[in-house]
Amino acid sequence: MEKSAPAKNKQESVVPIANQDAAAQLQKIRSALLALRDAVILLNEDDGLEWWNQAAQSLLSLQPEDKGQSIFNFITVPAFRQYYEDTTLPNDGIHIESWRDPSRYLKCELTPFGDEKLLFIYDVTRLQHLEQMRQDFVANVSHELRTPLTVMTGYLENFTDQPDMPPHWRRGFELMTQQTARMNRIVNDLLLLSKIEIEETHEFNHIDMTKLLTNIYDDAQAYNQAYKHTIHLQIDTYDGLYGSEMYLNSALSNLVINAIKYTPKGGNITISWTRTSDGCRFAVEDDGLGIAPEHIARLTERFYRIDKGRSRATGGTGLGLAIVKHVLHQHEAHLQIDSIEGTGSTFSVVFPDAYVRSAVAN
Ligand code: ADP
Repeated sequence: MEKSAPAKNKQESVVPIANQDAAAQLQKIRSALLALRDAVILLNEDDGLEWWNQAAQSLLSLQPEDKGQSIFNFITVPAFRQYYEDTTLPNDGIHIESWRDPSRYLKCELTPFGDEKLLFIYDVTRLQHLEQMRQDFVANVSHELRTPLTVMTGYLENFTDQPDMPPHWRRGFELMTQQTARMNRIVNDLLLLSKIEIEETHEFNHIDMTKLLTNIYDDAQAYNQAYKHTIHLQIDTYDGLYGSEMYLNSALSNLVINAIKYTPKGGNITISWTRTSDGCRFAVEDDGLGIAPEHIARLTERFYRIDKGRSRATGGTGLGLAIVKHVLHQHEAHLQIDSIEGTGSTFSVVFPDAYVRSAVAN
């Protein structure tokens, strides 16, 4: 008969099995990370290389003796350092050109945990090419549509002006004129969007915001004639901005015109410009239709409209807020939408200090 092992020995034999399991699992995870086609690098608190997989090894030509070296010795692209050091940037990664082969695009994504960081580098060349094709396609189609639209608009105007036009044709011609005008607006907005997407910055200059907002207010009053809202302009600071006057004029006007369009007649609209602790805030507040919460996150998508009929009736293209988003992005600012359906909305944006030009300095 076999002797049973003493109790102490029994315990000892259990622990090593658990350890073996954990070690085997760790080994599996390590092998999986090593086999990943995307580069994975573990960085220590001093930004030094701690561990990396095979994809990272070939991407950065790493040698075992590189352990501990700073990541910035290997990825020298300035935009990467900025992304790495600026913790305020939204953490959805950064796209950079490959430093070894400029025809390839990489996406770097940093995930901090404790004092260390995990860096993923993906090859996004195909995605970047598709995005480029999309941008070129939209820009080319919009451009090509301009000439036929100009010809059609011209002839429609000529025909509509004829005093001897048969009365039963008039309504048809009016509708054709309205719809070509709408197509013109869509094409112009698409072209503007393409331009903004391609340009990193558009002739940035010092902007006198008091002047810009007064002009926007005057234009809004002209547009407001049919709506009869009460519009207030509240300027609390003379601070201006460093940016693209043309694009900002277009974006901020868009927010004001929307407030007018989506507020039932006789409403109240306040446009404001104020100093905050971290920049300057532009806001448009209305007591109009408001927006249900499920729509808010999607409003800046191209052609996203809550009520298509209403948007068309008010001459909307569905591209206004997409333009606003891109223009604000150029100025490192984000659109904030606060709204209660049936009560009203506030569209606001804080321009960071780096883009604010104090009134004294101007
Ligand atoms: P549109 O040309 O249709 O106005 P936008 O991109 O400017 O396109 O706006 C997208 C949608 O957001 C609009 O169709 C409208 O439904 C909604 N919207 C925008 N501004 C407001 C507002 N101030 N109040 C209520 N709804 C708004």
